[in-house]
Amino acid sequence: MTPAVARIITDLTLDREFDYRIPEALRGQVEIGRTVRVPFGRRRARGFVTGLAEESDYPDLKDIEAVVEGPALFDKTMLKLARWMADYYAAPFESAIAAILPAAVRREGARFKRQLAARIAEGAEPTGVDEAVLAKRSPKQAAAWARLKELGECTAAALGEETGVSLAGLRSLAKKGWIALEPGVVRRNPHGHVAVLPTTAPPLMEEQTTALEAVRREMDEENPGVVLLHGVTGSGKTEVYLAAIQAALDAGKGAIALVPEIALTPQTMERFRGRFGETVAVLHSHLSDGERHDEWRRIAAGEARVVVGARSALFAPVRPLGLVAVDEEHEPAYKQDEAPRYNARDVAVMRGKMEGCAVVLGSATPSLESYRNAREGKYRLAVLTRRVDRRTMPEVRVVDMRIESEKEGGARLLSKDLIEAVRLRLSQGEQTMLFLNRRGYATTVMCPACGHVETCEHCSVKMTYHKNTDLMLCHVCGEVRRTPARCGNPKCGAPNIKMSGVGTQRVEAAVRRMFPQARVQRMDSDTTGAKHSHAEILGRFRRGDIDILVGTQMIAKGLDFPNVTLVGVILADLSLQMPDFRAAERTFQLLTQVAGRAGRGDVPGEVLVQTYTPFHPAVQSSRHADYATFFDQEIEMRQVMRYPPCERLTTVLFKGRDEAAVNACAKEFAERLARDLPEDVRLKGPAPAPLEKAKGYYRVQFMLLGRTTARYVPALRRMTKAFKLPRGVSIAVNVDALSLM
Ligand SMILES: [Zn+2]
Ligand SMILES: [Zn+2]
Repeated sequence: MTPAVARIITDLTLDREFDYRIPEALRGQVEIGRTVRVPFGRRRARGFVTGLAEESDYPDLKDIEAVVEGPALFDKTMLKLARWMADYYAAPFESAIAAILPAAVRREGARFKRQLAARIAEGAEPTGVDEAVLAKRSPKQAAAWARLKELGECTAAALGEETGVSLAGLRSLAKKGWIALEPGVVRRNPHGHVAVLPTTAPPLMEEQTTALEAVRREMDEENPGVVLLHGVTGSGKTEVYLAAIQAALDAGKGAIALVPEIALTPQTMERFRGRFGETVAVLHSHLSDGERHDEWRRIAAGEARVVVGARSALFAPVRPLGLVAVDEEHEPAYKQDEAPRYNARDVAVMRGKMEGCAVVLGSATPSLESYRNAREGKYRLAVLTRRVDRRTMPEVRVVDMRIESEKEGGARLLSKDLIEAVRLRLSQGEQTMLFLNRRGYATTVMCPACGHVETCEHCSVKMTYHKNTDLMLCHVCGEVRRTPARCGNPKCGAPNIKMSGVGTQRVEAAVRRMFPQARVQRMDSDTTGAKHSHAEILGRFRRGDIDILVGTQMIAKGLDFPNVTLVGVILADLSLQMPDFRAAERTFQLLTQVAGRAGRGDVPGEVLVQTYTPFHPAVQSSRHADYATFFDQEIEMRQVMRYPPCERLTTVLFKGRDEAAVNACAKEFAERLARDLPEDVRLKGPAPAPLEKAKGYYRVQFMLLGRTTARYVPALRRMTKAFKLPRGVSIAVNVDALSLM
């Protein structure tokens, strides 16, 4: 029996699906995932089919008006995944549907680009005599004909550009019956037409082979599971992913490889395309809408079987799916910061479970969540303890800045040891990276007379002084202000404003002063704007046109420069001071990742870590990339505090311009929710968020902690549906929150 009722979700509905009648004429066309046009109130809306039934509980259903041309945009499995996301992350269902479908595919009018194209007409057999005549009468047409014989098919526009032939000229060739002219689909190709040299898989090292076997064993299971690939920096994790993806392809399946957005460099893409060629599709935020649409449809049609991309590439319509690899699985970038606030790593595990496909999570510094799962036997653990090609791990030295500043009679930005080490690299023609996780020049603009500190009017943060523009900038909202010549406190007005605190600009200035002959470049979000792109700076560094690269965490991740033999961490303490229970974990990850940039070529690397807290466990463990020791200490603290991963944390944040209204709303919401919670769930707060005010909005939040999210998320979701927010106050539910700011 053909279903007579379809359940529809539209962009307009608030976490609700609606039933519509399928008119006789459309039966058979209405399927799960198809786009339809429906009457909605007094308007019309586009919606997606999320269910089919023979009858509905609701009387007087309206008819579906039309089925929009095009394929189904999701199948039952992806629909199930979207429902799971909405439930798990306490998010509206339509936001979960929006998450699994790129806007470029979902929006009205999304289609392939068509252009007039010319191709050799079927049965066209002009003789050499005809060609000679044409060459005399119309050289441009002859040139176009010759070019088309090489290409077989080409857009009229491109042919005109190359040979100067006009459209009339092409029409004339078509009239002769030599060529056919008709609109054809033009692929908007994000790779451009740059050819990549094919590469073959190198032989794997012993540990890599063992890791690959672990992944392949999971792939062969009836219910494949998760492999945590814990490999030190430079140990060749990517080669393991590539080999496992090859295995998936050999089995007639496809694969998805997720990498953090920042690691989606041309080198990464070349590596995948070199190995797998045209079957590689890419999905990330720098694509145009057209490119994204075409790549997605290429995947859906099975033309592309390997997808490489950032967070949302996880939802690519690869069918059947044999493997999902999540590189740098600990990266907070996998967490989406709008509803549904999902973590692509965790959703990858769920998609793997639903689709019966293996998942491999890789990292040199796994999240405590994943490592704990491996320890408890939920994930299979594979380890790579050695770097490839017998390269050694860099030697890490900790420089105690307390002793340094005592010796030097005051705080110094660059210690003597670091200066010596840089000098040595310069004399040897080797490269140095200096890392500081804070941009700008000075982070405090203060009056020494009265202590007045320049803060942002819209945010509860200090203004950062940027020397190149001589302006003060708010790093939260982007507000720019002129730097005052006198104290901004009307009762004071003293001159001699003091700039203190360090940012990358100050490091750059100090390095230039110290080494005037060196070629120094800074890389942070201030420099990677319009003028120098991220890729351009990295290209120059790779070619050896830069001796010293100063940067923020932008330079810490996944980059591989063989000639870098020294990495200096200017101040390791910055991330330790974050008001967050994950501060030590983040610091350990950051230090290990930064240190991992050194010594990736033939010369061993050295790392100098400057710090005022040299004996902090995060600093000490990162010296030997000793993850296990760090994990054991840190997990004990988390157990005592009952923090993640031992308990599951959710933040609920209220925002609004009216401070009193936000406070009152958060309080009422929390009180009502508390009545509905089991006793073992802790509700902490509400209290002002560490970032109390941002962009003019006051921020108040509370936390929920419980053994599982299932202990409290259902109650929370009921509350978010039932609670009427006052005007001007919004709510953000963040299940498994990674940041408490
Ligand atoms: Zn003052
Ligand atoms: Zn601001």
